[in-house]
Amino acid sequence: MIRSNENFSKMSDSYLFATIAAKVAAHKQAHPQEQVISLGIGDVTRPIVPAVVQAMHAAVADMGQAASFHGYGPEQGYAFLREAIAKHDFHARGIAIDADDIFISDGSKCDVGNIQELFAHDCKIAVTDPVYPVYVDSNAMAGRAGNWTGTHWDNLIYLPCTEENDFVPDFPKEQPDIIYLCYPNNPTGTVLHREALQAWVDYARNHKALIIYDAAYEAFISEPDVPHSIFEIDGAAEVAIECRSFSKTAGFTGVRCAYMVIPRTVQVSAPQGKMVRLRDLWHRRQSTKFNGCSYIVQRGAEAVFTPQGQQQVRAVIQEYMDNAASICTGLRALGLRCFGGVNAPYIWTKTPQGMASWEFFESLLKQASLVCTPGAGFGFSGEGYVRFTAFGTAEQSAQALQRIAHLSL
Ligand SMILES: *Cc1c(COP(=O)(O)O)cnc(C)c1O
Repeated sequence: MIRSNENFSKMSDSYLFATIAAKVAAHKQAHPQEQVISLGIGDVTRPIVPAVVQAMHAAVADMGQAASFHGYGPEQGYAFLREAIAKHDFHARGIAIDADDIFISDGSKCDVGNIQELFAHDCKIAVTDPVYPVYVDSNAMAGRAGNWTGTHWDNLIYLPCTEENDFVPDFPKEQPDIIYLCYPNNPTGTVLHREALQAWVDYARNHKALIIYDAAYEAFISEPDVPHSIFEIDGAAEVAIECRSFSKTAGFTGVRCAYMVIPRTVQVSAPQGKMVRLRDLWHRRQSTKFNGCSYIVQRGAEAVFTPQGQQQVRAVIQEYMDNAASICTGLRALGLRCFGGVNAPYIWTKTPQGMASWEFFESLLKQASLVCTPGAGFGFSGEGYVRFTAFGTAEQSAQALQRIAHLSL
């Protein structure tokens, strides 16, 4: 008999969004005449912008000609894209990142899962709570989370983020090795201002911890005092790595392209007291297990940085953020408390009258055919909240508010 990885038997059966999808499908079947509006899953809805479509067409044409055909590409990603990223995402903000420390991939979800292979099995993991479920589940699959108690994993360090602490995580009592921070945050839509992020970088330096910084929503930042990259912070290049994705920035959730920045100054310990560069381990891992993101997609991603590409993706992001603003205003007018929605496309909303988050989810679905995401699905500190996304259309966002207004809460 082949024994399975026993960590998988500790996992709950379904991924949060699969549970929600099943409830929504049952509701649709019971009420086929109702039009369901989903402000639930965090997926974009606007199409790929013209500058990117054109660049991908041209890249397809390249592939059809012997002279410009591309076979296997460099595992780390094409230099044309790594250099465009270094220039526009970092050098333009005064951050010295070398294109050689940038690794192109087909998604941040894979990157945050795969990077764990580089760390010892007994590394202690800290996550903010509520949290993007991928950080927790992928560590649980690797056996680093311990056992599921019914409310939490008993070997993870949780950093609660709630209204009480202004959604700024406190430093843990226990010493973590790896700290996942995602800002602007999914699911709460909240941010860490420069000073708070500096404090976390200082903490990591003092405690010899590594920060895995997920900046998937960096392009949605509208306030000046919010860092776009952790590398804007003094000392971060020794204790942090950063994940970025074209998914939300440029509508690439179905196209697939992301990247990870691992500065050569980040070192980890190896046997016999040696120190090794994390970047070199990742390079070794990627060249063994990954054959690169497609040439066509990388040409598409490169076009995001052209003047037309920038103008077009900014316009789409503005549409989403206009939705976010109107959702926040509308919910507040109804007397609901909400957070986020200013530097991120998520609105984290306190349920009315202390309802449980699944209970509020069910009543929005049943009474208003409206889908949100129950906060408890993101961790125990998410109980009592739901998440709305701004990724719908303006009409859907307005209609959703009208429906909530007609509820008897
Ligand atoms: C959407 C999202 C990503 C992007 O993942 P991809 O695999 O690149 O599509 C990364 N982190 C968070 C927190 C997200 O919400």
